[in-house]
Amino acid sequence: MEKNCTFCQIISGQKPTDFLYEDETLVVFKDIRPHAPVHLLIVPKRHIRSVNDLTEEDGKVISKMIFRAREMARKAAIDRSGYKLLFNVERGGGQVIFHLHMHLIGGW
Ligand code: 5GP
Ligand code: ZN
Repeated sequence: MEKNCTFCQIISGQKPTDFLYEDETLVVFKDIRPHAPVHLLIVPKRHIRSVNDLTEEDGKVISKMIFRAREMARKAAIDRSGYKLLFNVERGGGQVIFHLHMHLIGGW
């Protein structure tokens, strides 16, 4: 938990946010500024800054994020029409929240 991290605040309940899914590893919630009809964020509970900071041991977290995204896409009925899974990495890659997250974008 990082005090000044928006996503840590969301995960800890300091910043009230509806979760579409939660388990011991991750949460899923809607992006506050959606870029598409479906725009969800898949966020590990543990504070990891970015893809650059992942270690071998985090492989399981990443695979859980991908499988959860796939399931959320299926639930939103955009699995067949198609969607994007996106990691922005550091400032030059468009990352503005430095707590690892994957965007699920689709439903156009
Ligand atoms: P990044 O550019 O870091 O990959 O994406 C961060 C995303 O988090 C942005 O799309 C932004 O709209 C979203 N976001 C930032 N603050 C909040 C917040 O407080 N609540 C929610 N639900 N989304 C947020
Ligand atoms: Zn954090």
